[in-house]
Amino acid sequence: MPVTILVVEDEPAIQSLIEINLRRSGYAVALAADAQSAQAIINETLPALVLLDWMLPGVSGIEFARRLRRDARTKSLPIIMLTARGEERDKVDALEGGADDYVTKPFSARELMARIKALLRRNAPQSTDDLIKIGELLLDPVSHRVSANDETVNLGPTEFRLLHFLMAHPERVHSRAQLLDRIWGDGVFVEERTVDVHIRRLRAALEASKCDDMIQTVRGTGYRFSALSQ
Ligand code: CA
Repeated sequence: MPVTILVVEDEPAIQSLIEINLRRSGYAVALAADAQSAQAIINETLPALVLLDWMLPGVSGIEFARRLRRDARTKSLPIIMLTARGEERDKVDALEGGADDYVTKPFSARELMARIKALLRRNAPQSTDDLIKIGELLLDPVSHRVSANDETVNLGPTEFRLLHFLMAHPERVHSRAQLLDRIWGDGVFVEERTVDVHIRRLRAALEASKCDDMIQTVRGTGYRFSALSQ
């Protein structure tokens, strides 16, 4: 499932240049030319990252970034600010306004893609294509394959996403609500016990390779992926 990048840019030529490069890098793209339509897109589905032009008609990019930071739902949404303004003060303003990174126009497409990848890796390691190996368990996001001790582990799509998320954030406890949010997507209504059902399936699939005890229940809190025994 490709991750979606929301591009908020009012100049059609730049918008389409970015779109082409994002699609070529395997991302899905949502496009908006102003803050209002960007907000409408975000209200529908949360993107993985926002590329936000500073100079927009109406609400400026920096003001929109501040709004996103004030809203609990979008406060940790990764934002890269695009701007023609290269002054130090502007950069500080952008970062203080809530942007995570800042790219000055004219920028090279390659640099922009590298910054997007770096920010995604920092914020949502499960949305990059990096191979993850923990203990005997190996997960390849590109081929959607999981193996344990060199034996293939067959997983359904939800179990795969769940394992990918857990392996990308090891040694941390995730509540059922957090897992629902990150794996099922926000705005989807699913009961919390659904998480338990998929955790059970995941453990069953990992049982043969004895990797099932890496999926640990933290009583009263949620689940944790750990290579250490409980
Ligand atoms: Ca502009």
